[in-house]
Amino acid sequence: MLAHRLPALLPDLSPEASLVVTSLTSLSGRALDGLVTRPPLESPHHTSSAAALVGGGSKIIRPGAAARAAHGVLFLDEAPEFPAAVLDTLRQPLESGTITIHRASSVAHFPGRFQLVLAANPCPCGQHGTSDIACVCTSIARRRYLGRLSGPLLDRVDLQLRVNRVTTAAIRLAGEPSRETTASARLRVERAREVAAARLSATPWRTNAEVPGSWFRTGSRRLPVAVTSPIDRALERGTLTMRGYDRVLRVAWTLADLDTASAPSAEHIGRALFLRKSVTT
Ligand SMILES: [Zn+2]
Repeated sequence: MLAHRLPALLPDLSPEASLVVTSLTSLSGRALDGLVTRPPLESPHHTSSAAALVGGGSKIIRPGAAARAAHGVLFLDEAPEFPAAVLDTLRQPLESGTITIHRASSVAHFPGRFQLVLAANPCPCGQHGTSDIACVCTSIARRRYLGRLSGPLLDRVDLQLRVNRVTTAAIRLAGEPSRETTASARLRVERAREVAAARLSATPWRTNAEVPGSWFRTGSRRLPVAVTSPIDRALERGTLTMRGYDRVLRVAWTLADLDTASAPSAEHIGRALFLRKSVTT
């Protein structure tokens, strides 16, 4: 439910992004009634092939769900049910932001910059960690199930959260409707995007996600050792990879942008590191 609401939190597409998304929709043979101005959501089923996910075809190479999700959200529900080989095709776009498909006679490039959301049960029966019903899975079955999400793929996932089941007691306690609406949350996202775009105005990038990791470690963006010490230590201990280090920095900058702070504080770094903590280990 949260994943399906994520596109509504994103700002309208820029004119360039709108052209890209509209072109990809058209290339996929889908009906269009004008320019697409809102970020797309694609949620392929776990029986999808690699070609359906990233693109393929024999005579004409067609964009897959990941390309159609450009500038929007790619949601994979029950992610461990996807074949590992299919999931691993996402590693290239997650790193480079482009999808390249090689065929004997041709090569196709599609845009591959999307927000990836993976959802997984805590175990095959789905009850592990809940208080009401006992889990019937062995620890080996549980590890094998979550192990289907490969380490290299999870290393490219910035936020990993355990979402507890909603109980009837919790619904009763939450009788008062939340003041946070999609519209008010989108305003905060839009403001944070503006702060990031202003900082990046002299660069080819507009969002923190597009910035190469090394950029945040050089020049005026370099943060004081007192701020980065938790991730410096994690890198030294080997609990954080270099890619993970850069990804925590990116999330910390986004948290600072949401707070309209000029640079991340130690608290922003700590929160970014907490949000990254793997729930599968
Ligand atoms: Zn279970």
